[in-house]
Amino acid sequence: MHEISVIRTIVSTLKEKYEGNFDKITKVEIEAGLLSNIQPVLIQNAFEALRLELPELMELELEVKVLPIIARCNKCNENFEVKYHRFICPCGEPTKEVIQGDELQISKVEFIKT
Ligand SMILES: [Zn+2]
Repeated sequence: MHEISVIRTIVSTLKEKYEGNFDKITKVEIEAGLLSNIQPVLIQNAFEALRLELPELMELELEVKVLPIIARCNKCNENFEVKYHRFICPCGEPTKEVIQGDELQISKVEFIKT
């Protein structure tokens, strides 16, 4: 399953980056572009499954934000949202230049307020 390895990677990245403070993290926000093939529901399910394994995640909240695909037209130099995987600018020009949509990143980490 793709999502379980994604969530494992995210948790180990957080542990590495916030060594010593990991247990103070209350919420993590992830941004996943539509091209990354991440399904928010499946990520949440994978996270729930991982929680059973790692009780330290019990207090952690996970939020997944899906980012639309944005492409750039080289003819009119405009950015536009790609819908239904049609990489064609409203001006009619096809493009392959994706400027947003394939990312998968931790966008926000919240800690316990002391
Ligand atoms: Zn255009």
